[in-house]
Amino acid sequence: MASKRGDVSNELYLPNKIIQENAFVKTMDEYRKLYKRSVESPEIFWKEIADEFYWKTEKKGKFFSYNFDISKGPVYVEWMKGSSTNTCYNLLDRNVIEKGFGDRIAYYWEGNDPDDHATITYKELLRNVCKFANVLKGKGVKKEDCVAIYLPMIMEVVVAMLACSRIGAIHSVIFGGFSAQSLAQRILDAKCTVLITADGVWRGTKLLNLKETVDEAYKICKENGHHMKASIVVKHLGPPESKEDHLKKITQQAKRPVYDLKTPWNPDIDCWWHEEMNRANDICEPEWVDAENPLFILYTSGSTGKPKGVVHTTGGYLLYAATTFKYVFDYHPGDIYFCTADVGWITGHTYVVYGPLAQGATSVMFEGLPFHPHPGRYWEIIDKYRVTKFYTAPTAVRALMKYGDSHVTKYDRSSLKILGSVGEPINPEAWLWYHKIVGNEQCSIVDTFWQTETGGHVLTPLPGCTPTKPGSATFPFFGVVPALLNDEGKEIQGPGEGYLVFKKPWPGMMRTIYKSHERFETTYFEKFIGYYCTGDGARRDEDGYYWVTGRVDDMLNVSGHLLSTAQVESALIEHKAVSETAVVSHPHSVKGECLYAFIVLKEGYQFNSDVEKELRAKVRSKIGPFASPEFLHHTSGLPKTRSGKIMRRILRKIARNDRDLGDLSTLADPQVVDELYKTRPKNI
Ligand code: ATP
Ligand code: MG
Repeated sequence: MASKRGDVSNELYLPNKIIQENAFVKTMDEYRKLYKRSVESPEIFWKEIADEFYWKTEKKGKFFSYNFDISKGPVYVEWMKGSSTNTCYNLLDRNVIEKGFGDRIAYYWEGNDPDDHATITYKELLRNVCKFANVLKGKGVKKEDCVAIYLPMIMEVVVAMLACSRIGAIHSVIFGGFSAQSLAQRILDAKCTVLITADGVWRGTKLLNLKETVDEAYKICKENGHHMKASIVVKHLGPPESKEDHLKKITQQAKRPVYDLKTPWNPDIDCWWHEEMNRANDICEPEWVDAENPLFILYTSGSTGKPKGVVHTTGGYLLYAATTFKYVFDYHPGDIYFCTADVGWITGHTYVVYGPLAQGATSVMFEGLPFHPHPGRYWEIIDKYRVTKFYTAPTAVRALMKYGDSHVTKYDRSSLKILGSVGEPINPEAWLWYHKIVGNEQCSIVDTFWQTETGGHVLTPLPGCTPTKPGSATFPFFGVVPALLNDEGKEIQGPGEGYLVFKKPWPGMMRTIYKSHERFETTYFEKFIGYYCTGDGARRDEDGYYWVTGRVDDMLNVSGHLLSTAQVESALIEHKAVSETAVVSHPHSVKGECLYAFIVLKEGYQFNSDVEKELRAKVRSKIGPFASPEFLHHTSGLPKTRSGKIMRRILRKIARNDRDLGDLSTLADPQVVDELYKTRPKNI
């Protein structure tokens, strides 16, 4: 695989001097030294980090072992197997008792409504977690049972997750926006019998009746012979109030939304969270578990097919979440950290819950949406709490860009130091806007590449030392050894483009797919023997920077030229009228494949033949005439997963007018799909 990517800026952005002076890693030389040590002596490197945490028992001898080579036997990865610990103890008791951080704020909670907010300290969190751990025990939950959590972004979600970890149970958090069908599918896969939910939640001006969805899901479970034992329901929306009154209030930005949802109730299994908590004891000894015991299952978002229950374990995940959080966000006491991800995704697990708490950090947890009640909400929150480190997704950055700079610039934002990006390749246009407009050119941008499977960042800049290039995730994190392979599975040396794989395990990588080790092996280790295959393509430039180009199935070959759809998207989005674009391949009788581009325009722009011409000209001048899209499909929106990622496999089908869309459980807005079939270009 080899292709030029001449479209992207190769300009270097050096770390801000003040950030650099205070950073854990201040120079690239220091980074290289630490990196070298992490890959040459991983036992020593990670043992030193493990020593910062509490281990009930420590097994002497081999610190880790693994097999990536499927031809030699089963694939496995183990870190500190035989040692025992408890994640919750390390996140809470250690911070409260050993470090004396009890009164430190763990979370500033910011509700959907700007006037709805709360705080929780480490001490309060610990007390609540102990109580809830006892509630779970009372419901019969035991070590290694799997508990389903279907909650919005409220503090109870953290309490529930950590309570599971405290008693050695495995949590499976299911994003609160998922439908009954998707929820049931996940409950059934892990055979959960206890579920934690809430009566409902406001997302912007939309009311979600979570408990109703839960009950629908239970019906599906029952039809499949699976019976639930208990649901614990958080009364989040409070006492009755009419929906109309409530809507009036939110438009006036008033207090906490309250609205009686007429929560459906089955007294045999349903109980209120607050009633159970009132009765619960606040002392709960942690369950000491093996470092390789599962901590949680998390289903991947499903942009490429049937969701997989990715399993993460206790010891290695803790070390990796804590270490990546510390270095990538350069976390120091006094920082206020705000990650916008929902806890239903891996980013929410590692960088809203486990990483920050492992470091005793203070975070902002946000229930709402970036546009509610106005498109300046993120920046308003940043000013309100004086946020220093901010972490969001390119999809949010691009959407906010669309509203224009004034929604950002009217806020102060001078507290910001680091801006993170995760979830998709960030196109240079959006990167530069993030840097210049949001960050006032004062912040380090960390474009972090990772996956549900990797547990934490694997390719990322470090904010105090890495000179960044817009759109590049730069270099590997400590312990991570990337390689690029060509179609024959040969490693590409020096600059080039190929399949992004990893040669060695790091502590936070997934261990298996829940109850399906074979699927784990075939998905990640079969294509290239001896390597963990990410399924993403990447390019390494002359300076050794990695540029993730997107999933390998998003690569295409036009008249013998291999290119990634991301390149073409970067060119198209430079056009002033374009707010979002996605490019997929389409079969072509002469060229083999050709490009089919979906175009969403910004407010106030018309799609016409002039715009079409200009768009094609952009691609021609940025990449070359061969890359010019054959088809331009104007649409008002794109199909996305509930975590905001474009579902390209659906777009590929739409381009081919193929109606067999497969599993749609993760699709956020099915209407968009109907529109897209109707608006396919006429010339096809
Ligand atoms: P599924 O595996 O079920 O299809 P998914 O891959 O979207 O879902 P995640 O694990 O949340 O689920 O996302 C990981 C993927 O997101 C990566 O494989 C990559 O394609 C993309 N990604 C994440 N961060 C970045 C980044 N900084 N740059 C480029 N791509 C990224
Ligand atoms: Mg994936």
